[in-house]
Amino acid sequence: MKIEISQRLKNLPPYLFAEIDRMKKEAIVNGRDIIDLGVGDPDMPTPIHIIESLYESAQNPANHRYALNYGMPLLRNEMASWYKKRFQVKLNPDTEILPLIGSKEGIAHIPLAFINPGDEAIIPDPCYPPYISGTIFAGGVCHIVPMLESNGFFPDLDKIDCQVAKRAKLIFLNYPNNPTAAIANEEFFKKVVDFATENNIIVCHDAAYSEIYFDGCKPLSFLQIDGAKEIGVEFHSLSKTYNMTGWRIGFAIGSSEIIKALAAVKSNIDSGIFQAVQFAGIVAMKTDKSHINSLSQMYKSRRDVLADGLNALGWKVPKPKATFYVWMPVPPGSTSTEFSKMLLEKCDIVTTPGIGFGRNGEGYIRMALTVSEDRLKEAVGRIKKLHEK
Ligand SMILES: *Cc1c(COP(=O)(O)O)cnc(C)c1O
Repeated sequence: MKIEISQRLKNLPPYLFAEIDRMKKEAIVNGRDIIDLGVGDPDMPTPIHIIESLYESAQNPANHRYALNYGMPLLRNEMASWYKKRFQVKLNPDTEILPLIGSKEGIAHIPLAFINPGDEAIIPDPCYPPYISGTIFAGGVCHIVPMLESNGFFPDLDKIDCQVAKRAKLIFLNYPNNPTAAIANEEFFKKVVDFATENNIIVCHDAAYSEIYFDGCKPLSFLQIDGAKEIGVEFHSLSKTYNMTGWRIGFAIGSSEIIKALAAVKSNIDSGIFQAVQFAGIVAMKTDKSHINSLSQMYKSRRDVLADGLNALGWKVPKPKATFYVWMPVPPGSTSTEFSKMLLEKCDIVTTPGIGFGRNGEGYIRMALTVSEDRLKEAVGRIKKLHEK
């Protein structure tokens, strides 16, 4: 039998990390001591009180059954109060909050609720890949807009063709941003609300890194802006905030009409979050604020070790104000892939070439601060030796 994959799978952009993945595997097989700054996955364990809560809830047979699609009311209430405490915006837990099996799940599914075949979604570049794959799976067309350093890594909304703006159904945004680490200000968010309201575009704002920030630069929520709740949704995640990437729990908030449509899609695809994980999520969101402070402090110290260390060698490493990524320009004369390969070959350091996040990521590499300070010092030491050769 001939097995033929669907056109939508064929339409996905090519996977650009294959060569680096192969080199990394080979290096590990050969016993080389790899420092992996490639993956955006926290290295620290989930706090123990959250694990204990799961352990306890997992023993109750009442939690072993299919969960409610909308999540337990108790969970939605906790999400509302967590959000209110942090951003001072009140949400109706029954209509304006939808628990997700990780925010990626909601992000990838939301185009199915609004995009008809051939409809356009506006997507900033570089970006987190599910904005693109979700749009393509829904039969949509990605209208890519560059996010340039010269514009603070904001897409220039004034430069979007007005015909495109009129046609577009969705726009994806993400601040604090992966991979560039940019933070949005109120002025930009206000422009987004005006642009979206004028053109009837649904805003999907990904706020996965809202709690990882430094130097007092506390990120805003898109829904803090007047009018935002009428035209948009925001995606939140427990993954990065509580070191829970494997647990799969996040939530969407915002316009009740948008939330309702996303819920309708999901009710046909999944059957909710394991209820024991929902209880653990409640416990996580009640965690003392000191957890978030010390988490950010840890990433900040790591950031300083890496950036100060490399800058002392004459590199030009910007210090991010949020996220756990360093987005660094590569030296002139090499592509992001060539530079990444060189670091892997000569220093056994894995990084992510910017081109993997889109065309406008070319010229940069991303380094994740998800290894210990000692390992980052070791990484700097190896690069220093390279300079001495
Ligand atoms: C990690 C990440 C997420 C969160 O994913 P979960 O599915 O909630 O684990 C969402 N958006 C971006 C940009 C991320 O880097």
